[in-house]
Amino acid sequence: MMKSRSYLFTAMLVAPLALMASKDYSFNTPKVTDVKVTGGFWLSRIETNRLATLKTDFEKCNETPRINNFKNAAARKWGTFGGIFFDDSDVYKVMEGAAYIYAANPDPELKKQMTELIATMAKAQEPDGYLYTARLLGSPQVRNNARWENLMTSHELYNQGHMIEAAVAWYEASGRDDFLKIARKSADLMCRTFGYDKTQIKSTAGHQEIELALCKLYRVTGEKRYLDLAKFFLDVRGRGDLRSIWGSGLQDHLPVCEQEEAVGHAVRAAYMYCGMADVSALTGDESYLKAIDKLWENVVFRKLHLNGGIGARRHARHPKWGDAHEAFGVDFDLPNADAYLETCASIGNALWNERMFRRTGEAKYFDVIERIIYNGFLSGISICGTEFFYPNPLESKGGYKRSKWFGCSCCPVNVVRFIPQIPRMAFATRDDEVYVNLFVESDVKLKLKSGEVKLSQKTAYPWNGNVELTLNSVIPDFRLFIRIPGWCVGKPVPSTLYSQTVPASNDDFTVSVNGETVDFANERGYQVISRKWKAGDKIAIRMNMPVKRIKADDRVEADRGRLAVEKGPVLYCAEGFDNDGNVLNKVIAADAKFTMTKCEVLGHEYPAMTVNAAEVLSDLSGSKLTVNPVELKLIPYFAWCHREPGNEMQTWFPVKPDAGYASKDIKVKASFCHYEDTEKAVLDGRLPESSSDGRPPRLTFWAHRGTDEWVDFTFRTVQEVKGVEVYWFDDTGRGACRLPESWKVQWRGDDASEWREIEGVGEVDKDRFTKLDFPSSVKAKALRLKIKLQKDFSGGIHEVKIK
Ligand SMILES: [Zn+2]
Repeated sequence: MMKSRSYLFTAMLVAPLALMASKDYSFNTPKVTDVKVTGGFWLSRIETNRLATLKTDFEKCNETPRINNFKNAAARKWGTFGGIFFDDSDVYKVMEGAAYIYAANPDPELKKQMTELIATMAKAQEPDGYLYTARLLGSPQVRNNARWENLMTSHELYNQGHMIEAAVAWYEASGRDDFLKIARKSADLMCRTFGYDKTQIKSTAGHQEIELALCKLYRVTGEKRYLDLAKFFLDVRGRGDLRSIWGSGLQDHLPVCEQEEAVGHAVRAAYMYCGMADVSALTGDESYLKAIDKLWENVVFRKLHLNGGIGARRHARHPKWGDAHEAFGVDFDLPNADAYLETCASIGNALWNERMFRRTGEAKYFDVIERIIYNGFLSGISICGTEFFYPNPLESKGGYKRSKWFGCSCCPVNVVRFIPQIPRMAFATRDDEVYVNLFVESDVKLKLKSGEVKLSQKTAYPWNGNVELTLNSVIPDFRLFIRIPGWCVGKPVPSTLYSQTVPASNDDFTVSVNGETVDFANERGYQVISRKWKAGDKIAIRMNMPVKRIKADDRVEADRGRLAVEKGPVLYCAEGFDNDGNVLNKVIAADAKFTMTKCEVLGHEYPAMTVNAAEVLSDLSGSKLTVNPVELKLIPYFAWCHREPGNEMQTWFPVKPDAGYASKDIKVKASFCHYEDTEKAVLDGRLPESSSDGRPPRLTFWAHRGTDEWVDFTFRTVQEVKGVEVYWFDDTGRGACRLPESWKVQWRGDDASEWREIEGVGEVDKDRFTKLDFPSSVKAKALRLKIKLQKDFSGGIHEVKIK
């Protein structure tokens, strides 16, 4: 009884309002609730998101002051703000995720939790609609500015954007308008405050997001002023004649319609491009389209990493547009070890590409989305769903480990709202056309112009290329569009940035209906099938999925002389854990043959592969190379860094041995090393700026204090050694690592003999290499640094040089 009443309530509220936007994208995607994932790759991810990620995100918002800020704001407890001024947005993003999860699994406990939190937010909101806990609670970070006075950094509009997205999601999921009322009150305040009128503020958001959110609010309410405001926030960007502009880091260097190169902060950019696509779809104003098409070309031909990531640099330098952080680099600047590629930027890139598809109906945008969701986005979240990467590099010398949370925790809370949207992206419709865009095992209900079509998808994708579609209920006439993935026909990306060394061809993709093969026909990247359908019709899709080597455009310096390894949409990597510690010195010849095998990662079994490779070693001076055959094991890239944090990882493998990536023929072993640090860091050649530099990987004995420690260096063959230099780690002011009390060196001539002591003690000093020159050189098979830590303190080493 209750159930049917609440259903009616939903239908009454949602249906009439949802029809109010008269113009919109040509291609529609189903609602979250119209696609039910029934098995396969994504089911465990979606369940993990529901059961683990949502829980951990809510817990962290409770443990940190994030939710308390709202409670304190409701009670007007001035002076109690904790955290960063944009933390409200984290809570909204978790709530948006919770709404999608609730829509698919209406759990009364979750509803209660949401309802209570929304009630608190309603109390916290000021009478005129303003809600920003940092100001309400008098955070010193914002206290010196009036409302909206410092929009470049305050994130006031960014917070409101995420509030609106969450409120719309909750309204659609639950039929309740409690959150929507708060969002509308806030949006109405913004409509009064911002605009071209003399009395209104002519400014915009330092961090974009509000634009796409206001478009969503317009869609559910039909209130055109929200759409107008979204357009306003876009149109005043880069308008130096109207306001003082903030430059390229915030995409505020040119009017948005004149921007042709993707520059600046990548997450902001992607959200802005989403907003431009939305406003264009909803208004019919085509002036944005030329710009977003050019920006898309710029990204996909020049600024897209192979894992689908964007925003190459933590600190980007652009000769024309200036510096920016968490930003796009210049064209073809696609570093691997130093790649930034924030998880949020991958999400933004996927959301943008989905909009580009909804505009044009072209399958190529899903080649980008697929690359993101199986690679650079997915690596951002642990398989158990509770730990997250902020950056997602394609190579690691060590020092990476997923974290449960961050001070600025945008990524964990973006994951929880993005994963539930993936099934929805799998399908689309236009008039009497059905689009299958992603291969996700699922049942779906699609509304076409002439009626409803229900179909189910069965597949083990991405692990093989077999997909079975069954039409469960049909209208007799509709056109079925099945995406032909670019990787399956020789185009791993819809550009010339990456190519397959042995390209797949159209023969690698076949479709049959009830056992009869359909002629290959490519329309906008789809296999199109027009026929009289009946319930029970079966469509079989067969995609050959051999291992492919990938080559980058020659202009990408980091990938020159190197090839990557992919199978279907999945990028593979090798990590130290499977490969005796070192992978950065491994070479895979261009014509190497791969053998499929399996790997187990945290109880999940994934396809892995082995290949005959070579390791490149050099002597101490680096002048003599040795190349040894080895077997290398590769695993899916997204699964890296689960079994041993801080280990080496490689995706772009050199095809020929070269001294540039030889590892010194030395094994390093320490008496102890903190799990987030790595022993190998002492020989990685990455020099710190000072002893306290926290950025380069290092070896630390933390949390051993005051102990005697050692670090052994074992050579493959006997080496003549004249001395040792050590650059010590010392984080005075931050942590408890200090210079050691003293250090000495021992050596031995072969593995069996006793350690013998070198005369003398080493220098101890900060911010430089400290020496111990041997009285006379020794012919050593191994050296040992004997380190005595200062009483009550730990210690560590940045780098060691053996002479
Ligand atoms: Zn983030």
